[in-house]
Amino acid sequence: MVGKTPPQILRRCAPQNDKGVMATEEQISRVLISLAEIQSCGLCGTRLRWGDFECPHCGADLDDQLRLWAQRLVDAVNRPSNQ
Ligand SMILES: [Zn+2]
Repeated sequence: MVGKTPPQILRRCAPQNDKGVMATEEQISRVLISLAEIQSCGLCGTRLRWGDFECPHCGADLDDQLRLWAQRLVDAVNRPSNQ
């Protein structure tokens, strides 16, 4: 009658420590380095702020530029650690 928490629920609340999905320190620093890359408008050179999807100066669409940056970031994160 008295509520007893089943052990499988307690286990599910414990923090997961699956090495297979956790980011490594190296991957984390690669992301941080990538975030620090100075992005500027390819047309007028205006420095961009994170989150800009068009140039605040000339209005250029930055989608292609951001996609290339994201591609470099993903490649960097997925690169084996011995390279
Ligand atoms: Zn611009």
